[in-house]
Amino acid sequence: MHELSIAQNIVDIIRQYVPDTQGPDVRLVRIKVGRMSGVVADSLNFCFGAIVHGTALSEARLDIEETPLESHCGGCGNTFAVEGACFQCPKCGSGEIQVVSGTELQVVEIELSDRQAGVL
Ligand SMILES: [Zn+2]
Repeated sequence: MHELSIAQNIVDIIRQYVPDTQGPDVRLVRIKVGRMSGVVADSLNFCFGAIVHGTALSEARLDIEETPLESHCGGCGNTFAVEGACFQCPKCGSGEIQVVSGTELQVVEIELSDRQAGVL
């Protein structure tokens, strides 16, 4: 399952930044998921919960923000949000476009219970 390996990646990233002794203090993990990454938020939440269950990170929850797909036009330099499957510049009609964001998955912030937020 796609989401299971992503959830495991997120757990690995948390462990990189948070020592095991502070694991139980982790409350919220903010992540950004590109709309084009194909990640289903509910499924990712479920997998993450299954992985951290019974571990030092069992209190941690994911806060998943979907980022829109953005493209850059090579014809006129316009950057625009792509809706649906329309891969054409709305300004000049060029098809010479490049996806600049919307496929990424990023851990943005790890929030601990004492409100000391660690920004990555
Ligand atoms: Zn253009």
